[in-house]
Amino acid sequence: MTTQQISVGGRTINAGKKRTFRFACSETYHGDALEIPVTVINGTSSGPCVFLTAAVHGDELNGVKIIQEVAAHYEPEDLRGALVCLHVLNVPGFLAQQRYVPIYDEDLNRSFPGDPRSTMAKRLANTIYEEFITKCDFGLDFHTSTRNRTTMYHVRADMRDPDVERLARAFGTSVILDGEGSHGTLRRVACRNGIPTVTVEMGRAHRFQTAHLDRALHCVASVLAEHEVLPDQPVSWPGWTRVVARGGEKRWLRAETAGLVEMNWGPHPLVEEGEPLFTISDHFKEDVEVVRAPSTGLVVGVLESAVAYLGHPLCHFVSIDESTAEIIRDDIERGVFDIYREGGFQWPEPRWYAKHEHDANAEHTGDVFGYD
Ligand SMILES: [Zn+2]
Repeated sequence: MTTQQISVGGRTINAGKKRTFRFACSETYHGDALEIPVTVINGTSSGPCVFLTAAVHGDELNGVKIIQEVAAHYEPEDLRGALVCLHVLNVPGFLAQQRYVPIYDEDLNRSFPGDPRSTMAKRLANTIYEEFITKCDFGLDFHTSTRNRTTMYHVRADMRDPDVERLARAFGTSVILDGEGSHGTLRRVACRNGIPTVTVEMGRAHRFQTAHLDRALHCVASVLAEHEVLPDQPVSWPGWTRVVARGGEKRWLRAETAGLVEMNWGPHPLVEEGEPLFTISDHFKEDVEVVRAPSTGLVVGVLESAVAYLGHPLCHFVSIDESTAEIIRDDIERGVFDIYREGGFQWPEPRWYAKHEHDANAEHTGDVFGYD
């Protein structure tokens, strides 16, 4: 037992207590308070203070549901240490269901550690950082891909830092992208200030994806087990782990032709060298670009837009070796990746929409399309 208190967001929470409250982080031009929903669960035994954050991009919702479930699930008697759950960081973006802070489209996750005398996003970042993040020992920041894209379940972490590496591996995803993160991201700033933080990426914006959520709840428990916040729980091992080094091994494949996009890859993220991934064509199917896999690899992030302009990112591609590919093929057999194309679709073999021969006598009849 301990009498350890936690002070966050202007409140003090005693050991053995669970508190929910709304923290006024800013206000609208209409004069209403903008409030972050907060849950603090302070364990009956002392230990690390862990933050969990979601929706720093306002339309990335899987993490919001994860935090709702974590906050409801754990009680003080379960924990050695404390959980500080910030259910939504970018409150104005969440209300508008958009990525950035309205109206000037500032990116809250490029605004840390913030500035109390600067823009709204920097003030908001500063308040969050000072009132909550600096009070914690390490944390998890939940994201999804941005709209019109999907991303494989993975962690981004600065693997040069042993404490960050421990956190990333304990979370138990198969793919870890090594890197410090962009300037102004919550995790980069927190890590530089000695608060190990990883970004968790999964799926799509604007929805709850239950298979990702189930997995993430186990991964949160695994992190808590590794750091002895949940001393009796097991630490998860994903079966295989691929740490993608900074530079070189991952790249964006971009459109070199502007036009309409057909997705040819899938339904799983593992693709073989030379496999067609996307076909981009003009309206007349005269200018056609087939984008192929440069090697055997993983489609870690993918555009789900139907159109592309020149240079448009089509997919985030990671090369893998044959032994890893073999393990992934086994995972595919076991259905591990069945969710990946949820909500997306793959173009089947060409039917009526194959490029038509130019035939002056051809007559286009309504039944070519099979529907009105
Ligand atoms: Zn994000």
